[in-house]
Amino acid sequence: MTMKKIAVYPGSFDPITNGHIDIITRGLRMFDELICLVAYNPNKTSLFTVEERMELIRAVVAKDCPQVKIDCSSGLLVDYVHKIGANCVLRGLRALSDFEYEFQLALMNRRLNREIETVFLMTGYQWFYTSSNLIKEAASLGGSVQGLVPDLVNERLIEKFKKVQGKNL
Ligand code: ADP
Repeated sequence: MTMKKIAVYPGSFDPITNGHIDIITRGLRMFDELICLVAYNPNKTSLFTVEERMELIRAVVAKDCPQVKIDCSSGLLVDYVHKIGANCVLRGLRALSDFEYEFQLALMNRRLNREIETVFLMTGYQWFYTSSNLIKEAASLGGSVQGLVPDLVNERLIEKFKKVQGKNL
């Protein structure tokens, strides 16, 4: 019997973008199952709650794709990966600026648990400049992010910022 190849794809996913979806879709060609892990720090502020972020991932990818599972954790990543019986972490790489941080993170995780490997996929060229932070910044100022995020995420961003602006009036 061959073992199921499971990878954990961790991130803040605040919110999920087409760049994330590209990595998930391509990751599924290498792994039998991908766990999108909403990794959060309870002391950090986010635009979407953990539940909202998980719900958006479910609606835009996991709903039609049983190989994608969703979970959340605020603990040590390698502990989570070990606990669920996986040994791979999937990450996406955009510009050179990602590289430095991802290198540090991968080395730290390897030091913490040598059984776990990090696998990187280069971003699709359309998503080179797509980050959740930039998306939020543009959307907060009323800029259109259509085409960079799924339509549902676009709608949720518009609603969120309407509420935020409403509060500031
Ligand atoms: P962000 O950096 O957009 O806030 P996350 O913290 O959710 O995203 O990132 C989770 C993982 O997804 C990281 O490995 C990150 O490099 C990757 N990722 C995010 N956006 C993209 C993209 N546009 N193309 C490829 N990988 C991406």
